[in-house]
Order: sequence, then structure tokens, then C-alpha cells
Amino acid sequence: MSERKKVVITDFIPETSIECEVLGNDVDVVALNAMGEDEVLDEIVDADAVLLYHLISLTEKSISRMEKCKLIVRGGVGYDNVDWRLARKKGINVCNVPDYGTEDVADTAIGMALTLSRGIHYHNSRLRRGLGEWGFAEYRQVPRLRGRTFGIIGLGRIGTAAALRAKGLGMNVVFYDPYVRDGTDKAVGATRVETLDELLAQTYVLSPHCPLTKETRHIVNPDTIAKLPKGAYVVNTSRGGVVDVNAVLDAVTSGHLAGAGIDVLETEPPAPGDRFIEAWQNPDHLAHDRIIVNPHTAFYCEEGLGEMRLKAVQNIARFLRGEEPRNLVN
Ligand code: NAD
Repeated sequence: MSERKKVVITDFIPETSIECEVLGNDVDVVALNAMGEDEVLDEIVDADAVLLYHLISLTEKSISRMEKCKLIVRGGVGYDNVDWRLARKKGINVCNVPDYGTEDVADTAIGMALTLSRGIHYHNSRLRRGLGEWGFAEYRQVPRLRGRTFGIIGLGRIGTAAALRAKGLGMNVVFYDPYVRDGTDKAVGATRVETLDELLAQTYVLSPHCPLTKETRHIVNPDTIAKLPKGAYVVNTSRGGVVDVNAVLDAVTSGHLAGAGIDVLETEPPAPGDRFIEAWQNPDHLAHDRIIVNPHTAFYCEEGLGEMRLKAVQNIARFLRGEEPRNLVN
């Protein structure tokens, strides 16, 4: 008889119906619903695999206690809450679930682009406060979207999904991504540029879809924003650190940018006194009606959450059967 296996779900998922169904009767599934790393220390000692979401971190403290674990799956895209380097030193594979929300994030980026560039947010925001005329007069500088450039930084999964949607709107899709293979432009039907400056010079809606790295931290900053044509928009559904939101705020206030949609911030939730958030909340601020803020919800839909759980646990089941895990990140 084969030895029973143990899978520990550290946080976020309080009931285990999906996980138990996939893993079957030979696996004990323990959901800890923890809010801190200390709460998982005892149970992970003899776990064969650990499934981690976003509410806690696995650092040296917990990883050093793992005696049997050979796989940590992060239910989600970002894996900065796992010390994956240490895990590798201990021979533990770390995997993520990169694709559960691809279309949803792209939908949000396009939704923000449309809501801003069609003036929907601006009119709604002002009318509700009793401001503005009943008509288009005060917002008459709206150009037609068809033929305008949707500029993408990072043509990966979400960038490609956004590109296809923007093409559907008749936009001219241009991207900057030094790492995608030659021919990606042809496969997607988008124009590739070799430098960020080339992208910025022609962009009407700038939409970064790159990961947060040393190279991309504040890739959207006062200098790069200044290279966008006057009246452009920025929408950020990637990672907070990719965009300097204070620079975006200043450019919207000065009128250089026509507006911005921000789903992700460097600090979430924002700290009290955050300059960008205070300006956005202040109805008297010039940028108030031109900025949209969402609480990092671009990925969210019910189907996506189910998909995230299913794909995460399917990877564990695959590994426990002796197969190679998918989406290894370390
Ligand atoms: P991906 O890995 O499929 O694609 C990222 C692309 O960025 C790659 O093609 C890569 O070559 C490119 N890239 C890397 N460095 C670059 C650079 N310096 N300049 C230009 N391009 C660069 O990633 P994805 O799954 O499409 O995710 C994209 C972003 O969306 C990530 O930042 C991810 O964390 C974020 N995300 C956000 C949410 C949300 O809810 N807001 C949800 C999921 C993912």
C-alpha cells in the first residue's frame, strides 16, 4: 500500500472541496486559513506539498522546517511572497499559476482605456457632482479611437490579449518588448518597435504589461511620460512599481496626460496621506475627474478564482504522481 501524502493549503482557501476532489482519497488535505507565517509552522513539517496564496509569506522561518516538501505552488502569478531561492537550495520546486486571469486583466486594461478616452468617467464624475453642462461642449476634444495607437510595454500573455482587443476596436497596436521572439509581431498582427522612445512618441493609450523587475521599475516616470504626445492616457494593470503614479498625477494635473487608470499601486492598500490617492479623492483637485483607481481587481472574476484553485491543485496532483511540475519559477 502506498504511503499517504499530505498537502497543506496555508491561507485564503478555508474549504477544500476542489482540492480534495482533484487529489483523491490517498491524500490528506489540510487548510490552515492562516493570517501569519507562524500559524503554519507545525503543519508544514511533514507536508509533501504546500499550496500558498497571497495572505502570508513563506520565508526561511517556515521553509527551514519543511522536512518532506518538494513542491510549493503559489496560487497566483506573483511569487515574491516565497523565498524561492532558499527553496531551490533545499531542493524544493516553486511553481505559480500564471494564466488564470489573462483575459480578465486585459479586459480591465481595455475597459479603463475606453472609459477614459470616450470621456465616460469624466462626464459621470462631473455630472454626479452637479458640474458641467448637459452636453459635449466642455469635453469636445475627444478624438476618434479608431486608428489611434495602443502602446504596449511587454507583449506576454496579458499584453497579447490586450493587443487583440485593441485591434478589435480598430486601434493601431504597437509594442515594445525586447524579449519576445522574432515573428511575434506577425503572429499577433501588431507593430514591433526596438526602443521605448519609439513607442512613446506615437502612443495614445500606454498600457504596460511587463513584470516588475529592476529594468521596469518606474519605466513610466516623468521622463517617459514627457515623451508621450500631449493628451495621451496611461492605464496600469501590471504591477504598482512599474508606474510612478505621482508622475502620472502631475502630468494629468498639468494637462499633458488626458487621464489615467490605475489598478495597482506600489503599496497596497495605500498608506494614509498618500499624495496620489489624496489628490484622486479630492473633488477640488484638477486631476479628480480624470483618474480612475481600482483596488487591484483587474484579475478578479468568479471563474478565474475557480480556475486558479483548480490549476494550482492539478499541478500538485501531477507532481505527486511523479510527473514534472508545470510553471516552475525557481
Ligand atoms: P508574461 O510573463 O506573460 O509577459 C510579460 C512580458 O513582459 C514578457 O513578454 C516579457 O518579455 C516582457 N518584458 C519583460 N521585461 C521587459 C522590459 N524591460 N521591457 C518590455 N517588456 C518586458 O506576464 P503576464 O502574465 O502577461 O503578466 C503581465 C503583468 O500583469 C505582470 O506584471 C503581472 O504581475 C501582472 N498581473 C496583474 C494582475 C492584476 O490583477 N492587476 C493579475 C495578473 C497579472
